Amino acid sequence: MGVDRILREARAAVEKIVPANIEITAIDFEGPVIVIYTKNMEEFARNADLIKKLAQGLRKRVSIRPDPSTMLKPEDAEEKIRAIIPEEAKIVDIFFEDSTGQVTIEALAPGIVIGKKGNILNEIKKVSGWAPNVVRSPPIPSKTVSEIRAFLRSKREERKVFLRKVGRKIARQTLDGEDWVRVTALGGYREVGRSAHLLMTRNSKVLIDCGIDASSSQTPYLNVPELMPLETLDAVVLTHAHLDHSGLIPALYKYGYDGPVYATPPTRDLMALLQLDYMKVAVSDGSNAPYSSAHVQKEVLHTITLKYGETTDIAPDIRMTFHNAGHILGSAVAHFHIGDGAYNVAFTGDIKYEKTWLFNPAVNRFPRVETVVMESTYGGHNDTQPSRHEAAAQLEDILRRTQERGGKVLIPVFSVGRSQEVMLVIEEKMRHGEIPEMPVYLDGMIWEATAIHTAYPEFLNNSLKNRIFKDSTENPFLSPIFHRVETRDMRERIINDPEPLIVLSTSGMMNGGPVMEYFKNWADEPKNSIIFVGYQAEGTIGRKVQGGMKEITFNSRGKQIGVEINMEISTIDGFSGHSDRRQLINYIANMEPRPERIILSHGEEKKSLDLAASIHRKFNYDTRVPKNLETIRLH
Ligand code: ZN
Repeated sequence: MGVDRILREARAAVEKIVPANIEITAIDFEGPVIVIYTKNMEEFARNADLIKKLAQGLRKRVSIRPDPSTMLKPEDAEEKIRAIIPEEAKIVDIFFEDSTGQVTIEALAPGIVIGKKGNILNEIKKVSGWAPNVVRSPPIPSKTVSEIRAFLRSKREERKVFLRKVGRKIARQTLDGEDWVRVTALGGYREVGRSAHLLMTRNSKVLIDCGIDASSSQTPYLNVPELMPLETLDAVVLTHAHLDHSGLIPALYKYGYDGPVYATPPTRDLMALLQLDYMKVAVSDGSNAPYSSAHVQKEVLHTITLKYGETTDIAPDIRMTFHNAGHILGSAVAHFHIGDGAYNVAFTGDIKYEKTWLFNPAVNRFPRVETVVMESTYGGHNDTQPSRHEAAAQLEDILRRTQERGGKVLIPVFSVGRSQEVMLVIEEKMRHGEIPEMPVYLDGMIWEATAIHTAYPEFLNNSLKNRIFKDSTENPFLSPIFHRVETRDMRERIINDPEPLIVLSTSGMMNGGPVMEYFKNWADEPKNSIIFVGYQAEGTIGRKVQGGMKEITFNSRGKQIGVEINMEISTIDGFSGHSDRRQLINYIANMEPRPERIILSHGEEKKSLDLAASIHRKFNYDTRVPKNLETIRLH
C-alpha cells in the first residue's frame, strides 16, 4: 500500500469511529504514530475511549493534536496552565512547540500534573487548546538529560521533517510474493564485545545493536553486501546503552544512514553519555575515535523512544515491542512480530533473570514467539553466581571489618548499573544500622549516571520506584551519606582523610580513571580494602590486583610508578547484571509460549556451545550457535 492510500483509508476509518460533531482537520504520519488534528479537543478529552478505539481501528499508535487555529497564545496559555496545576506538582519549566501543538510541562511530581485519571491534563487541553506532555525533572539534576532535552527542543523543525519521512517509509508500498525471515550474525557471536544482528524479511531490514569492543576497538562486520548501502536499512533497534551494544551506532550516521534508532528513553540518554565518554578516552589515549560528537548528536536527533510494552510499526511488515531485560537502566528485550502473524522472534540483549535492587527480572512472556536470540555470557558449566542477598552479606562483612580496623574501602565500578546497586545496598545497611555510618564518595561518571536513574523511576523495580515516587526523603539515592567528588582538591582531601570511608570510582577494571589515584595512595596499607564487584578482563590492572599480584607498575600522569599491594583484596560475584547459567536456563524453561528455536550469542565460544548443548538436551529445542557472518533462515 502506498502512503497516500493509507492516509486516505485512515481518514475513512477515523470518520467512521469519530462522531460527526468532531471536526478532523488533518491526518499525517509522525514516525510510527498517526497524528490526527482536530478543532474539538474538548470532545476527545470528554470521551477517553475514543483514542483507544482509534488506535484499535487503525492498528497504529495515535496522537490527537489541536488544530493550530484553536490554540491560545503561549503567554496566555502558560498563565492559565500555571493556575490549573496544584502547587505541590512543583513545576520547573513549561515550553511550547508550535509545530506539534504540544506544551511540555517539566515538574518534580508529574503524577500531580496528570491528576486523577488524567483530569488535570484534560482541563489543560480544554482551556488552552494545547496538547500537554508531562516530563519529570530529575530530583538530582542530570546534565545529560537536560542537555538532550534542550538539544531536541532546538531541533524541533528538523525533527518534525525526519519523523514525517520515517512515517512515510514505514507506510511504503511493498511487493507481494513468498515471505521469508532470516537473521545474520554480524558481531558478538562466539565472543563478547561487538554485538550486531541483521533481521531481514522480503520487504525490510533491521539492525539490532551495533557495538564496539572498547578494549580492542573491533567492530562488527558492517561491510557485508546485504547491509549496503546503509540507506536501505529501515531501522536500528538498540537493546541497551553499553558500548558493546551501542558503541558504533554514531558511525552509521557518518557513513550514510539517516533513519531511526529505536531505544527506551533512558537508553537514549545513557548511550549518548557513554559514547561521548568513549570518544574522550580514545582522544586522550591518542587513538582515533571512529566518529565525532556531531555524529552522536545526529544519532540522538534520530532516536525514537519507546517505553516497555509500547508496540510500534518500525517497517512495513515488522512491529516491535520492548520489554524489561533487568540488566541496566532502560535495558530491553526486543520482540519482533513479522508479517500478519507470520513469525515472531525475540532478541534478549543482555538479561538478568532475578529481581535485583534496581530492576524486576527480565520478561519472558510474549503473545507469540518462535525463535529467541539469547545472550550466553555466563552460560558455561561452572558459571554459578551467589544470590543478591549472599552478595550483600559479603559486602557487609568486608565494610564492617575494614571500618573496625580504621581502614578505607575502594570499590572500582562501572558508572552504569553496578555502582547504583552497590549504593543501594550500602544505603539500606547503614539505615538499618547493620554497618556503621561512614561517608560514601562517588568519583567519575557515577553521579551523572545515578542522576539519570532518578530521572526514570518507572524503569526501576516496583519497590524502588515507589520509594522514589513518594517523596525526596524516601529516595535512597538522595541519602546524605553520598557525596560527589567534584574537584581534584576534594579527592586529595579524601585520600589523606584519617577516618574510615568508602569510595566508589571508575573505571571498573582499573584501566585508568580516578580510581587509580586512590589505589596508588592506599594500596600498601594492610588496613585498607579493595572490593571487585564486576567483571575484570584479561590484561587489565584490575585482573592483576584481583589475582593477588604483590607489586604492580603502571602509568600515572605520564610517569611509570610502582605500587606495593598490602591492602585486603576481595571479589563479590553476586552483583552481576548478567544471568548466570542457572538463570539463563530458567529464563528459557519458564518462557511462555514455548519457543521452537534458541540462537545463542554474546558469550565465549566454549560457553555458548556448552549452554546450547544443555538446552537442547533438556528441552529438545533446535539450538544454534552461529559464527559471525552466518545467516539462519527462520521462516
Ligand atoms: Zn550489557
